[in-house]
Amino acid sequence: MTERILIRGGIVLTQDPDLGEIPNADVLIEDDKIVAIGKDLSAEGARIIDASGDIVIPGFVDTHRHTWETCIRTCAPDFALITYFGSILDKFARHYRPEDVHSATQWGALECINAGITTLVDWAHIMNTPEHADASVDALTESGIRSVFAYGFPNTSLVDWWFGPDYTGSVLTSVGDEARRVRSQYFSSDDGLVTMGLATRGPGFCKPEVVRHDWELAKELGVNITVHVAMDRFGYTKNQVLALRDMDLLYPGTTYVHASHFTEEEWELVRDSGGNVSLSHRSRSRWAMVGRRQPPHSNTECRSVSPRTWPPPHQQISSPRCMPSSDRSGDVCIRRHGRPTSTGWSRHPGFSPRVRLLRWPPSAVPKWQGSPIAPGRSPRGRRLTS
Ligand SMILES: [Zn+2]
Repeated sequence: MTERILIRGGIVLTQDPDLGEIPNADVLIEDDKIVAIGKDLSAEGARIIDASGDIVIPGFVDTHRHTWETCIRTCAPDFALITYFGSILDKFARHYRPEDVHSATQWGALECINAGITTLVDWAHIMNTPEHADASVDALTESGIRSVFAYGFPNTSLVDWWFGPDYTGSVLTSVGDEARRVRSQYFSSDDGLVTMGLATRGPGFCKPEVVRHDWELAKELGVNITVHVAMDRFGYTKNQVLALRDMDLLYPGTTYVHASHFTEEEWELVRDSGGNVSLSHRSRSRWAMVGRRQPPHSNTECRSVSPRTWPPPHQQISSPRCMPSSDRSGDVCIRRHGRPTSTGWSRHPGFSPRVRLLRWPPSAVPKWQGSPIAPGRSPRGRRLTS
């Protein structure tokens, strides 16, 4: 029997250029499809959801989140990137147990749903044991979110996994046999609510032979790659796409995360190779402001650009997440008061796979009270004068 749901009287932001934004409109869903959008729709026998005063929009897609870090969020609101590496990746991460990964991932995924993010790319670089991988997949599955489990690598040593013994690149490859096990055990089909990707490190972080191994592993597994690139102006993450080009490893469907310091040529290479980019404006602004504190909340998110294959080509959104910092997801801007209302609807063109009702109560948006740095004092230190 067909299940019918009518979302009545909402402000419908369809993201469909032909339909546009429709105030006081209805959305009719039959089973998992939106079959009509318009005013005063009749729907005999449908369950009615009163959306008056609410915004009805497609669910957002978070293209990059280290979901396992959810439970340590707010522990480092003023960390610079390098401090994050030293404290989180070199100290916290090695002590994570599978149950910690499970709790944090499930929490983070549920938090996404509650914030209107209905599709999540989980950059799971906490694969310290096989049980850690199992815990990640279980948590995503149990949460009910549509997600890409981007299988990462162990984070048991910063030197081993991010820099290498001589600080010119890690010599450790992703754990291929374990990735194959995860692929066959959980993702024999790509049609599920949770699918698989490969989260890996790339040139600069790894020796070239490690990069080649991991890219070939992704090809063998038939999954897309997600990789951090161009995070800083001068350092080891510069020119990584050029390096991948030189190694003939610009795979279509690769998600390049950050990309804040691409060269013009790299933007073109990503476009021409069928890659996509995950941007995070708030991480970018944070890293540009090392030494200054950031507002505890943001009511904006950021969009990815040039999506081609995965994540889906509309409503690309990536929350600032690389810092385990203050409330980075800005949940309040897109939350309906009260209960989460996400359900698995929609094959309507222009809609992402899920729709939820959203309300943005202005009173729920915290006001940033300004910089704690006293006037006249440089946050970068004291000027030495004779
Ligand atoms: Zn990241």
